[in-house]
Amino acid sequence: MSVIAIDGPAGSGKTTVARALADRLGLEYLDTGAMYRAVAFAVLRRGVDPDESEQVARVAASMELTLDGGYCLVDGVDATVDIRGSEVTRVVSIVSAIPGVRTEMVYRQRAWVAARGGGVIEGRDIGSVVFPDADAKVYLTASADVRARRRSDQDDAGDVEAVAADIRRRDEADSDRRASPLVRADGAVEIDTTTLGVDETVDRILGLLG
Ligand code: C5P
Repeated sequence: MSVIAIDGPAGSGKTTVARALADRLGLEYLDTGAMYRAVAFAVLRRGVDPDESEQVARVAASMELTLDGGYCLVDGVDATVDIRGSEVTRVVSIVSAIPGVRTEMVYRQRAWVAARGGGVIEGRDIGSVVFPDADAKVYLTASADVRARRRSDQDDAGDVEAVAADIRRRDEADSDRRASPLVRADGAVEIDTTTLGVDETVDRILGLLG
């Protein structure tokens, strides 16, 4: 079983790098950020208050979620576009800080990997909590400016300043929470992608695999 864990803050290049790496290795790729975004989507759709931890955890446990080929289906509804929208982005760090939500998502992430015999998994707590014994653990970083520019191009979210403020808010919330905060995991290799291309980053990770 080959498991590669890629963590880092928003805009550090995780998704692009994880996809390219999975292609090179012939593995499947899992975007765990999309899973937490899907929980936020389901919470908003069911009219649940994101601050009501118990109710939110119940939504996470009962929702039907399929992530496949870049598409995201939540309870049979196509949420591919909406999980990247501003409403979901506004509440995702609130729901992802709820321990019951994390327990459920970690369970689903491990089941996903077990069913495929491995994969490239990206998120915030993959190397620290979900797969501490991964074959390679990577922590991607990049300057705040570059991260904001990438996200603003990627999500077509407009104004770089607004995106930068949103990223700062989420970085803080994700790093300061009690349950599985964003940290560089023990044994993770840090790669700064500020001036590094996707291929160079992928090559460095492949180098770690020996
Ligand atoms: O990666 P992305 O920016 O789409 O993640 C959205 C949010 O999901 C993060 O800001 C964080 O709150 C949460 N997340 C998490 N743990 C993960 C992946 C994402 O808490 N493994």
